[in-house]
Amino acid sequence: MSALLTVSDLTVTYAPPRRSGSIGTGAALAGVDLDIRPGEIIGIVGETGSGKTTLARATVGLVKPAAGRIDFDGTDLGALRGKALRQFRRSGQVQLAFQDPLRSLDTDLSVGELVAEPLDVVGDLTRAERRERVDEALGLVGLDADSFRDRYPRQLSGGQRQRVSLARSIVTRPRLLFCDEPVSALDVSNRNLVLRLLDRLRTELGLAVVIIAHDLSSLAGVADRVAVFYRGRLVEHGPISDVLEKPVHPYTALLASSAPSVEHDDRLSPLELRVPVTEARTPAEGACVFAARCRFAHDACAEQPPLVPVAGTDRFAACHAADSWRRSLNPETDPQKEALS
Ligand code: SF4
Repeated sequence: MSALLTVSDLTVTYAPPRRSGSIGTGAALAGVDLDIRPGEIIGIVGETGSGKTTLARATVGLVKPAAGRIDFDGTDLGALRGKALRQFRRSGQVQLAFQDPLRSLDTDLSVGELVAEPLDVVGDLTRAERRERVDEALGLVGLDADSFRDRYPRQLSGGQRQRVSLARSIVTRPRLLFCDEPVSALDVSNRNLVLRLLDRLRTELGLAVVIIAHDLSSLAGVADRVAVFYRGRLVEHGPISDVLEKPVHPYTALLASSAPSVEHDDRLSPLELRVPVTEARTPAEGACVFAARCRFAHDACAEQPPLVPVAGTDRFAACHAADSWRRSLNPETDPQKEALS
């Protein structure tokens, strides 16, 4: 199936602050390649500042890339100007659901008004058509329109607010939805409910969903693939079950080792993967982004490795030691078999 969204060599740079003595932020994303297919759920995972939210903001046009290209359904979004750009925005085909529904929802507006708001951009809809779209969106997220249309955010539970936020995001009938930390503020039962809902939306609407998360375990059981970011670089991506069970990049292995609900036989301990505190390092400029924290760093790591296919798998990783670092943990093991199975 051909990609709905293709991101090629995308680089986003935030200008350093002007105040003297403050620290510049540098590249928020550096040379990222990724594609997303229709009806797919892909997880984007990484620490705060890893660039995962910047990827979403660049795709919806909230930040301008310094280099690279973003194609949506064959259209180069960076080349759109004037009327073509306005038409694309009005189509509402790409939407972003914000992280904190309580903060992102205007508490003075009713649920019906909140869900209808994104339709202002689409325009040219009659009052009856707007009402129909709002009711449809509320129904899709499992909220009865007649019961919820006139309520206010303060009258909703955390899970209901998250569903109203999702209804806002799908009311324009998008084809691609970015959800920024959709479950991080929810308890376990609401978390499962929202994740099941996203799964249903991709099945019923053919919606491609990108879930931005800071831990791998929240993506298990819902995402098809996962892309792992570290300091603006895509360091590994592939099918979620493979990545969780046998990570290829040492940073992904560290994330998987700390994921509370991910159980499998080959799980490594964080202690096996962390650099001892006595070995503080400052890698040279241009070194692998993970070199300061990587237990397996060696001379070749003075240069950032490219993201390349991992032989024998359908995964990609950016690590000079992708096929050998596990051997140093267990020298008895066949490295090829161990790293790539
Ligand atoms: S390239 Fe080197 S420093 Fe970077 S993750 Fe791989 S082994 Fe570690």
